[in-house]
Amino acid sequence: LDTAVGIDLGATNVRVAIGVRDGRILSKIVKRTVREGDEYALSRQIIEMVRELPRELLENAIEVNIGTVGPLDQRLGSISPPNLPFKRSYLVKPISMEFGLPVKMYNDCVAAVIGEKFFGQGRGVDNLVYVTISSGIGGGVFADGRLLLGRDGNAHEIGHLTIDVNGELRCGCGKRGHWEAYCSGVNIPNHTRLIAENIEKEALEKSLLYDRLNAVTSKEVFDAAKKGDHFASSVIERVGRYNAIGFANVINSYDPELIIIGGSVALNNKELILRPILEKVGDYAVNRIPEIKFTELGDEVGLYGAIAAGFYMKS
Ligand SMILES: [Zn+2]
Repeated sequence: LDTAVGIDLGATNVRVAIGVRDGRILSKIVKRTVREGDEYALSRQIIEMVRELPRELLENAIEVNIGTVGPLDQRLGSISPPNLPFKRSYLVKPISMEFGLPVKMYNDCVAAVIGEKFFGQGRGVDNLVYVTISSGIGGGVFADGRLLLGRDGNAHEIGHLTIDVNGELRCGCGKRGHWEAYCSGVNIPNHTRLIAENIEKEALEKSLLYDRLNAVTSKEVFDAAKKGDHFASSVIERVGRYNAIGFANVINSYDPELIIIGGSVALNNKELILRPILEKVGDYAVNRIPEIKFTELGDEVGLYGAIAAGFYMKS
């Protein structure tokens, strides 16, 4: 029975698993991502974890595929993630040489859409978009049954779509006005402070967030909104409207039949995230509004995608 190894390399955790063609994961290992060493530290960690998989399964592996934090350099088979302490990490060549198997590398959101397409709710759907709303915002796209990659594998950096032409907030990428700068977990606090500057002090003083503004987290904003806090609710409404604009841009660009949402910010706040999108996306979208739902693969969606890629994505 053929098996495939999947690796989900995140800034926090590395997940390594081995599975079969129908999507069953037979063995899985999760460890904290190493944070010190040289440009081969990550590939060494991955190789050691793969070596811990049951040998009889590993012997039947046909490929090893990686879904990873980016940015990726496909030519060098390396990554240079800003939130890991390695300037560059080589992945493809050391892992391929160690196991004598083909190794492909995808950005994590692309791996996620592959996971949905073959093992999730995207089965049989030719026009499919996966959107993650977590510390950042990203996406993966199948159009007409084909995975979109672009020249450098960056065909759908949807978190960096411009949604505010005045560019009041600066994005982590350095540019202004991007979707992610207003609606991602890392940036909702900035957005909260921006909105706070423009409302009356008396209204702000009544908010649970008033004393916390300088250090507020996105979780605190959502939690306060869930308690009925007026200011927090207005922030979440604004985030929701900007998400609706982001989703409309995605719908207008790719004409999907189905959009699947993942990422911790979305999955921890399903109602507060989805309702404003559904209410307002029609104000901005010209294409038919597709079905929009949450992933059922949780934080393993990228791992499923990396395994699916071994069977279904030929290089
Ligand atoms: Zn950006």
